[in-house]
Amino acid sequence: MSKKWVYLFGEVAEAEKYCGGSWDKVRGLLGGKGSGLADMTRAGVPVPPGFTVTTEACNAYSASGKFPEGMWDQELAALKEVENETGKKFGDPANPLLVSCRSGAKFSMPGMMDTVLNLGLTDKTAEGMIKLTNNPRFVYDSYRRLVEMFGSVVLGIPDEPFEEGLKDYKERKGYKLDTEMTAEDWKAIIVTFQDIIKKYKGFDFPQAPLKQLELATLAVFNSWNGKRAVDYRRATNIPDDLGTAVNIVTMVFGNMGNDSGTGVAFTRNPSTGDRKMMGEYLLNAQGEDVVAGIRNTDPVENMSKVMPEVYNQFMDITNKLERHYQEMQDVEFTIERGKLWMLQTRNGKRTAKAAVKIAVDMANEKLISKEEAVLRVTPEQVDTLLHPQFDEKAKKEAEKAGTFFAKGVNASPGAAVGQAYFDADKAEKMAKEHKQDTIMVRPFTKPDDVHGMIASKGVLTSEGGATSHAAVVARQFGIPCVVGANVIKIDLEKRKMEVNGKVVKEGEWISVDGTTGQVFIGKIPTMAPKLEEQVELMTLLTWADEICATPGMRKAPKGWPTTGLQVWANADYPKDAQRARTYGAVGIGLCRTEHMFFEQVRLPIVQRMILSKTSSDRTAALNELLPYQRKDFDGLFEAMNGYPVIIRLIDPPLHEFMPDEEKLFEEVVTMRVLGKKEGLAEKEDLLSAIRGMHESNPMMGMRGVRLSISMPEIVEMQVRAIFEAAADCTLRGIVVKPEVMIPLTGTLSELEWIQPRLERIAKTVMGEKKVNFSYKFGTMIEIPRAAVTAAEIAKLAEFFSFGTNDLTQMTFGYSRDDAERNFLITYVEQKILPKNPFQTIDRDGVGKLMDMAVIDGRKTRPNLEVGICGEHGGDPESIEWCHIIGNNYVSCSPFRVPIARLAAAHSALKHKGIGIAEDK
Ligand code: ADP
Ligand code: MG
Ligand code: MG
Repeated sequence: MSKKWVYLFGEVAEAEKYCGGSWDKVRGLLGGKGSGLADMTRAGVPVPPGFTVTTEACNAYSASGKFPEGMWDQELAALKEVENETGKKFGDPANPLLVSCRSGAKFSMPGMMDTVLNLGLTDKTAEGMIKLTNNPRFVYDSYRRLVEMFGSVVLGIPDEPFEEGLKDYKERKGYKLDTEMTAEDWKAIIVTFQDIIKKYKGFDFPQAPLKQLELATLAVFNSWNGKRAVDYRRATNIPDDLGTAVNIVTMVFGNMGNDSGTGVAFTRNPSTGDRKMMGEYLLNAQGEDVVAGIRNTDPVENMSKVMPEVYNQFMDITNKLERHYQEMQDVEFTIERGKLWMLQTRNGKRTAKAAVKIAVDMANEKLISKEEAVLRVTPEQVDTLLHPQFDEKAKKEAEKAGTFFAKGVNASPGAAVGQAYFDADKAEKMAKEHKQDTIMVRPFTKPDDVHGMIASKGVLTSEGGATSHAAVVARQFGIPCVVGANVIKIDLEKRKMEVNGKVVKEGEWISVDGTTGQVFIGKIPTMAPKLEEQVELMTLLTWADEICATPGMRKAPKGWPTTGLQVWANADYPKDAQRARTYGAVGIGLCRTEHMFFEQVRLPIVQRMILSKTSSDRTAALNELLPYQRKDFDGLFEAMNGYPVIIRLIDPPLHEFMPDEEKLFEEVVTMRVLGKKEGLAEKEDLLSAIRGMHESNPMMGMRGVRLSISMPEIVEMQVRAIFEAAADCTLRGIVVKPEVMIPLTGTLSELEWIQPRLERIAKTVMGEKKVNFSYKFGTMIEIPRAAVTAAEIAKLAEFFSFGTNDLTQMTFGYSRDDAERNFLITYVEQKILPKNPFQTIDRDGVGKLMDMAVIDGRKTRPNLEVGICGEHGGDPESIEWCHIIGNNYVSCSPFRVPIARLAAAHSALKHKGIGIAEDK
């Protein structure tokens, strides 16, 4: 017997068996739509009888260019079963069965592939149906839809000739709306449409129903490799080898009169996440009429008045579906003469905001666990929520100034400012080639427009509702979007839009507020949203922290952390530290002290210090800096009351604090030429001093610990400032946990030289101030030699912090700026490197050094505290690596702290209970 290529909706158990019980594999085999229809059938939900041709058949077809052996016979056999179940016969004029042919891949790709409705209608069966239904208008309307869809979808004829054919006809008749078309009118249109097919293809619209079915099946298979579908897969990282299934579904009719209708609904609001059904329906309409946004829809609630029984049944079914899948569902339904049919269910796409709210609500409703809720939100979604919003004050002012333009439906939240373009190609071109911020403006969007939407900062349409194509796609890609702003008159030919005399021409700036639905002319400033106001996100992150704080999350040797990662922040100023705290950081992993030297009043003192000829001159200058530094640290300790603060001693080469050599040289030359004497000597001295400091490779020269050893006075001052501030804070009742970090260590002997001197100062200050608090001295691990000799280094260092930027530079031998400018893009494109190693830790090289350093370091000092303070500390994949190798914490920019908290919890859940050293 040949392979099973076709499954009836009732055969879901067999599909499950074939897939070894894995529902994920069933979805892969039958596609999302097919598996959903089969699953609903099993649950007793009313689904029109039908069957699914598997994705395996599609792949076999793609490989060989023809239907695989046995497939077509199985399709015919399944059709027989459907005939038996419905009591109708495909192609029988006396009682014709009609079906739809629908694509459906494992992951839903809305509108990306093709569907044909009303297959089985021919000149003969149409007459038969009229006898049965006594409703010629309905039959001819259905038939003309088939001829049109068959022409465009199956035979690849453009939409325009069909649309124009209908438009001309209506004009001749003086009609405005489709509803004015009579049965005879539709009948005439069918002839027109059939002529179009003949004209474009040279053959007739097939009057043999089985030929229709065969060609439609082929068309769905082929649509998998169509441009739209391929573009969509690129944008969403869906693999090309999944294939699409083909679903053949008995037609049910929403266009049989006013006791019929069709609609789509989300079980919760996909934009805000509110726990309230959001849907639209149309009476006396078929299929895609709702989504296409060509007729004005009614909200689903209204069904409760028009057809209360159907409404209640619908609410009951959708409730059950949501509980069954434990997820917000996106459903399609049709009502045929008062009977409800479900045509599709799938997990609904949603905005980042809705994703968080739905996850938290569902956990509170006990539908899912807190862990599951945390896993359902991606770090990228958290990132989106922290993206800029419009500044409310600026918006009010814009309103007063009269730049308000229009209001539509708030379909996808966020602030977008950009230049308006009226088609997808132009929007994409201006964004990609001219690096503009663009807003794509259209009456409505189609699947062919997606490339323009993705390239744009925002999308604006004048037609369609919250479930229109534009809205669904924008939500999925997190693009701010306003739809259905129907006061706007868009003139595609003149490339402009207008509301009451206010005109926006192509290329002009507009601001689109997807959160409120407002549109303004011009640019409105944006600001970072307040995390404190995002209650659900705060809750979710608290759960993430709880997960990470659970002992036993990591199986580990004595001294190693057994909880998940903590998240600390890099902060140089007290205000950054405060932000870090509100964002949930529980420590400062890196305070860069050199920033403090650059401030206006301080820089001249710093320069004087650097140019000092004697140690006592230098100390004098440093004594002037001491009170400033002490104040900086005081503020940090206060903001971080009770939490550790790692302060890095001076790191960059000293020339960075000096005036620019070339500029100074120019000044000197100019003065000499003009014969200006005053101040010339000082400038000449300064110039020669700077020249004396010249290094050919400063980043690998005199900096970090090397600088401290040749000029210890600077770090001695810094340590004194740190401990005086810590002591003062302690006396004020603040709990301080200072940790002094020595940068750029390569050998133990460097630490042996510098660390005891600094520790002596720490003790002296504590003695002077008569206070006691705990503190640590440790080092950055950013030179490969330090990683390799970690067991030695840990003899003195009480903590390690990976400086992965320098560590990556030195491990690869790349200078970051040069690499990113010159060859890294090519390396990634050519797959020489999988990713930019400065964004995501290279686990095989740099990561291996880190791993080794942790193991060796803790051999010497089992409770060695390990963290990371490079930019990688905010990158989810790198965070996972830090979890795997046994870090205590990751430290990142305050703005990325929420993302890191979630990513840390994901890592903990993914590797729950997995040993650290054991599995090495
Ligand atoms: P998409 O994947 O683009 O949503 P679908 O295959 O779901 O495409 O179908 C497009 C439209 O046709 C939807 O509105 C759907 O509900 C409707 N439809 C599909 N099959 C049938 C059917 N057998 N009877 C009635 N309407 C159908
Ligand atoms: Mg659908
Ligand atoms: Mg460094």
